Amino acid sequence: MNLILFGPPAAGKGTQAKRLVEKRGMVQLSTGDMLRAAIASGSALGKRVSGIMERGELVSDEIVIELIEDRLPEAEGAGGAIFDGFPRTIAQAQALDLMLDRRRRPIDLVIRLKVDDDALLKRVAGRFAESGRPDDNPESFKVRLAAYNAQTAPLLPYYQTHGKLVEVDGMGAIDEVAAAIDAAIDGPRF
Ligand code: AMP
Repeated sequence: MNLILFGPPAAGKGTQAKRLVEKRGMVQLSTGDMLRAAIASGSALGKRVSGIMERGELVSDEIVIELIEDRLPEAEGAGGAIFDGFPRTIAQAQALDLMLDRRRRPIDLVIRLKVDDDALLKRVAGRFAESGRPDDNPESFKVRLAAYNAQTAPLLPYYQTHGKLVEVDGMGAIDEVAAAIDAAIDGPRF
């Protein structure tokens, strides 16, 4: 099965994706992780995106679409893909649909983690203090949240009209959110 974990930055997508990998043998495809790996390796791609990411802006659609395409065969060999932090724009969503339709493995489910802005700001302040991730600083986080609202949230109606969207309360404890995600995956489908 292919699913998208959808939600604003710091909603818990990465945490929940990792749990699904352990539980269901799926492959997590996080464009944020791939881009951070590129920066850490000092590659040309890493050099191109590091400033953009640090400011909290989105990198170009072409870059992330290519990163995802390269990893699809691996996900197919496993139990499917969990898309985490991708797609973030309408163009990315359309490209993903095209790539998956070609492989006859469309998106089965889009799980939206709902977390209010105040809780996100609190979470990310804690995360910044702990990990010092550069784009978790308050200024960059504001830009990331604005990018989510302007460019990513408009995908919700796109997936709703395709009948694939399920909403999950992302405000609870990690285990509670995990249980709600499991129920969405294993429950009756539309
Ligand atoms: P994330 O770890 O998903 O929060 O992503 C961290 C940063 O990587 C984002 O703020 C963007 O700069 C970049 N990024 C990750 N995924 C995408 C994407 N699908 N489209 C554009 N930029 C992305």
